[in-house]
Amino acid sequence: MNAAPKTLRRLSDLDQAGLIPAEKRAVLEQVAARYAIAVTPAMEALIDRGDPNDPIAQQFVPDPAELDVVPQERADPIGDHAHSPVDGIVHRYPDRVLLKLTHVCAVYCRFCFRREMVGPDAEPLTPAQLDAALGYIAAHPDIWEVVLTGGDPLVLSARRLRDVMVRLSTIAHVKVIRVHSRVPIADPARITGELVRALKVEGKATYVVAHANHARELTSAAREACARIIDAGIPMLSQSVLLAGVNDDPQTLAALMRALVECRIKPYYLHHGDLAPGTAHLRTSIERGQELMRVLHGRYSGLCQPTYVLDIPGGHGKSPVGPSYLSRDDEGRTQVEDFNGGLHCYPPEP
Ligand SMILES: *Cc1c(COP(=O)(O)O)cnc(C)c1O
Ligand code: SF4
Repeated sequence: MNAAPKTLRRLSDLDQAGLIPAEKRAVLEQVAARYAIAVTPAMEALIDRGDPNDPIAQQFVPDPAELDVVPQERADPIGDHAHSPVDGIVHRYPDRVLLKLTHVCAVYCRFCFRREMVGPDAEPLTPAQLDAALGYIAAHPDIWEVVLTGGDPLVLSARRLRDVMVRLSTIAHVKVIRVHSRVPIADPARITGELVRALKVEGKATYVVAHANHARELTSAAREACARIIDAGIPMLSQSVLLAGVNDDPQTLAALMRALVECRIKPYYLHHGDLAPGTAHLRTSIERGQELMRVLHGRYSGLCQPTYVLDIPGGHGKSPVGPSYLSRDDEGRTQVEDFNGGLHCYPPEP
């Protein structure tokens, strides 16, 4: 009997799996020395080795272009450090905080905005740091929502997650616990009944936000994992990153949004690519993102519309950067554009 397939973590693993051409091996050693690699069996199985632009490979298989850092890129592109009052907490907005329990992920995305922070060697929060982080939340009554992120919180054991959830449930002013994760899609077998039960606590609303960038990621195993979460009474949302060559055309983006909605997952955010080091080859322009949003708005169900957001470099938070349908005519009257591009005065002329 063959051993269960393993997550590919080294260049030699990728080589053996036929995912990197021999002539790139030497230069990829430099990429591997800087950034973590992990391709789960579920994601590996989706890669078409015959397609040099395979959208799954582009997300997870290292590329020599990652060595090209452009001047605007930064190690901390969204300014987490500027808003971290204690280890593990990022408190940028008044009513919600990020709680980063681990820096480990199931897969390492080549475009990751925290790529300088995540990886198998990064230290998890120690028990004392976790106490301090929970103490910070307890001491700030304005914190209505806690977002578990990382790293990926769903790589933790059900027992550890349960422990954190129960401790959060004792903080009266926290009403919502949101879990951001790539696991339901990248490693669906981890979504066991025990793990799902760990996410539900008395008196709090739990939401799970799954990260997916291409419809092909929503395999039957991923769909079943999401259904286990949703059937347990936990609503799911999604976030996607706009990525050149992966999902930056209207059909591909729409197919992703439809696949999510078909799984009862409401598309939440489409992120503009962050200025993480060595990711220029995967970024598009904001104008391109706006064009794509216009197509989605005009041709697809309202359920399929994410909000297109930019995380402003320097720690200023996220802002919607989708197209505007309002303008003014020569006389200064408000005009609103319909989904076919027609312009209408508002209020209409009497
Ligand atoms: C993205 C983010 C959040 C969550 O923002 P929403 O717009 O509520 O999804 C919260 N805190 C920080 C620091 C963030 O970067
Ligand atoms: S799962 Fe999220 S945090 Fe982890 S590497 Fe991918 S984008 Fe980064």
